[in-house]
Amino acid sequence: MELGIPQSFSRVLSSMCTEPHPAAREAAERFIATNPGDPGTYDTVADLESTVVDRLGEVAGLDEPAGYVASGGTEANVQALRLARNRADTPDPNVVVPASGHFSFTKAANVLGVELRVAPLDGYTVSLEAVEELLDADTVAVVGVAGSTEYGRVDPIPALADLTADAPGDPLLHVDAAWGGFVLPFTDYAWGFADAAVDTLTIDPHKMGQAVVPAGGLLAREESLLAELAVDTPYLESTSQITLTGTRSGAGVASAVAALDALWPDGYREQYETSQANAEWLAAELRLRGDEVVSPTLPLVAADIGTEAIDAVRDAGWRLSRTERGEARFVMQPHVTRETLCAFLTDLDRLR
Ligand SMILES: *Cc1c(COP(=O)(O)O)cnc(C)c1O
Repeated sequence: MELGIPQSFSRVLSSMCTEPHPAAREAAERFIATNPGDPGTYDTVADLESTVVDRLGEVAGLDEPAGYVASGGTEANVQALRLARNRADTPDPNVVVPASGHFSFTKAANVLGVELRVAPLDGYTVSLEAVEELLDADTVAVVGVAGSTEYGRVDPIPALADLTADAPGDPLLHVDAAWGGFVLPFTDYAWGFADAAVDTLTIDPHKMGQAVVPAGGLLAREESLLAELAVDTPYLESTSQITLTGTRSGAGVASAVAALDALWPDGYREQYETSQANAEWLAAELRLRGDEVVSPTLPLVAADIGTEAIDAVRDAGWRLSRTERGEARFVMQPHVTRETLCAFLTDLDRLR
């Protein structure tokens, strides 16, 4: 069968993934037949996985990180809530999540049998008063979003940490930096382990990190937290497993090492600066055209260009998604260059 050619990234404007770094692609190919799910047998890739965790710890401000390379942000979020639930002692657990939380938390609550308490926003970030009202003795985790999927906004993580510390049920604080984790180190935001009492954190190398899919990351402040996830593995060379998946690709792991080697920190910093400048440029261009734009505080622009315009540019081949409110969503991934944006604006101006 003719497989065809995958889509090119030249007109992809809303994806959170991107063309992998060449070194990441090469590493993925080399390690494609390895299985870090069985570290006793596949020890080389298991060592690489520890390296990724150490490096992600550097990115997120944690000296001696525990963690692993997950299949993505979804698995990392599910696992963070799972460990919080397992650690707590309540038959009726709940988790407080901002309304801006990724839909993976809905999946997590569903598979874990945990009640999701959605805290409304105050503007684009979570309302601290709302969080405080929702906390009770059965709250096992509080979630903060560091780089929201729709608007790229960052919740007040240190204030959430304070609320979490004072909460009755001794909950954990989980930060979802799946997308934002590779740009936030170059901003003034307080988001990571060094900024607040964060317990667990999601950070995906396969988004702004330029690794291949599947490479997500779950980090924990202490190894003992991950022990809540351990199950016995009788017929493997290793004796227990903390991951949700069993057999899993070593391609993501090896590619994450290669990408981090090539880009942390200077390459990622340059990419952040370019992406942020592009976001601000696009926001200004759209405002000149009279469109309402949500200010891009991270490299993600949401703009109300109108439903008809979105349909027209999609028909012209642009891959563009919208927010729940209907704005067009432009994610400044590395493949979205100034030339891409100029070509997009030329089409937009022609078509509306
Ligand atoms: C993308 C994303 C996720 C989910 O990650 P996957 O890798 O798609 O499973 C979770 N949270 C945030 C904030 C994201 O941007």
